[in-house]
Amino acid sequence: MTTKATSYLTHFRNIGIAAHIDAGKTTTTERILYYTGRTHNIGEVHDGAATMDWMEQERERGITITAAATTAKWKHSATGEEYTVNIIDTPGHVDFTIEVERSMRVLDGAVAVFDSSQGVEPQSETVWRQADRYGVPRIAFSNKMDKTGASFELVLSDIRERLGAIPAPIQYPMGQESDFKGIIDLVRQRAHTYTNDLGTDITESDIPEQYMDKVREMRAALIEAAAEVDEDVMMKFLEGEEPTVEELVLAIRKGTVEKKIFPVLCGSALKNKGVQLLLDAVVDYLPSPLEVPAIRGHIEDSEETRDFPADPEGKLAALAFKIMADPYVGRLTFVRIYSGTLSSGSYVFNASKGKRERVGRLLRMHANSREDVTELRAGELGAVIGLKDAGTGNTLIGDGDEHVLLESIDVPEPVIKLAIEPKTKADQDKMGVGLQRLAEEDPTFRVESDPESGQTTIAGMGELHLEILVDRLRREYKVDANVGAPQVAYRETITKAVDVEGKFVRQSGGRGQFGHVKIKAEPLPPGSGFVFENAVVGGTVPREYVKPAQ
Ligand code: GDP
Repeated sequence: MTTKATSYLTHFRNIGIAAHIDAGKTTTTERILYYTGRTHNIGEVHDGAATMDWMEQERERGITITAAATTAKWKHSATGEEYTVNIIDTPGHVDFTIEVERSMRVLDGAVAVFDSSQGVEPQSETVWRQADRYGVPRIAFSNKMDKTGASFELVLSDIRERLGAIPAPIQYPMGQESDFKGIIDLVRQRAHTYTNDLGTDITESDIPEQYMDKVREMRAALIEAAAEVDEDVMMKFLEGEEPTVEELVLAIRKGTVEKKIFPVLCGSALKNKGVQLLLDAVVDYLPSPLEVPAIRGHIEDSEETRDFPADPEGKLAALAFKIMADPYVGRLTFVRIYSGTLSSGSYVFNASKGKRERVGRLLRMHANSREDVTELRAGELGAVIGLKDAGTGNTLIGDGDEHVLLESIDVPEPVIKLAIEPKTKADQDKMGVGLQRLAEEDPTFRVESDPESGQTTIAGMGELHLEILVDRLRREYKVDANVGAPQVAYRETITKAVDVEGKFVRQSGGRGQFGHVKIKAEPLPPGSGFVFENAVVGGTVPREYVKPAQ
């Protein structure tokens, strides 16, 4: 419900950009930040200038592993209204599933980026299922329309067949592959032609005659899909009348928020085609914090629950979703405020740890700058400096308020472990401190030491995950270490199970339908994970690694 206090939230969008690695998530995010005016040069991702990739090694590896939240402003091209778009970065690599889970928890909607020459790839499917599990409404962006082999139809049919979702194309490409010239907006019935690859020269016009038949057919299908979810559009449809643009937008929005339809757009992030229209669609179709279900809190020592609707005047309920070591200010705790207002200099209660903590400074992160703010209100995301104990998934509430724990983040069990020792014996203690700090930041990273042999082992989500942490140990804590051969970290207890189809059959608990399952795994080349021989394995293992039982 919108009240005077919550009216600002109608112009807020908290979104994630999710994709298979290499589909173009980083490029799309970068272009979005560029067009929202916060970055001034478009860096080539793999040349080390990507704005969202903070850490040195991410740039070297060309992958994004942090889930920072960046605030941008966007003025809708058709309505001229200004919106705040918070972009929560989600990683594309499967080893960082926990990072995806974290971001799914705190975002209200997502843009799923596909490579239109590849269609739906295994990892896009994994991310899509995760979004399903968290009930995240989505729009799809069929990227790389300029690439050889690009096909909008392929993406549409893959969404239908591989993801089992109903795609609602709201655009149609003018040309494909090297001939990709522009985009037809099926909702507003306008053609956007890009005369160069820099995004500087865009003409808007009527739809060229040659596309009219296709456009009529596709728009009719879109109106029919909208009618299925909206009574007003349905009434008009039955009377043979066309809805107005506003009615059509509202109906598609309704269907998207209810996750009944998935608008599909197309473009080429690299060639600066379609990014502005994508931002307009984020505003048009993805929900504001007022349109998603209120987060639920469980009252300590009772069966009772409490809902926290987005309201800056309500009781404080915030979730810490990412801890980052920052070279300038120390420890940064990224938080999403669900309800109430978090003020700098105030005291909060960390209900997960049972500790009172002081909030130092509050930061709103932009692509190229950080802004000190005195408060973060319901629906906002930002970073806190000064929290010493908060970890990923911790609930922060008002000091003195009733103790509640917000529905937290699922932490998958590590799947692989390695023995580790410092190259120089004298570094043993330093290594211990470094590893412990890294483990505090990342709940899927575990450090164990065998009291008898004194051997230290580290466990994580995959070889690349551990490789990156060993690399960080060297860079940030100046400890060079040798590691042993990877071993599978057997999980005696599975917390989530998937069947061969990749469906989650059980979501939580210790023993369940499948009891204890031992898994046999065979390592693939570094970084690509394992093939699991059992049909039923832990929920963090994506389907592409599951070999059906013989
Ligand atoms: P991510 O792994 O999903 O973050 O993907 P990146 O944004 O790093 O892109 C992967 C590769 O695809 C890079 O070489 C990009 O330059 C390239 N790429 C991204 N978008 C496009 C596009 O629209 N067209 C073409 N042809 N290449 C693209």
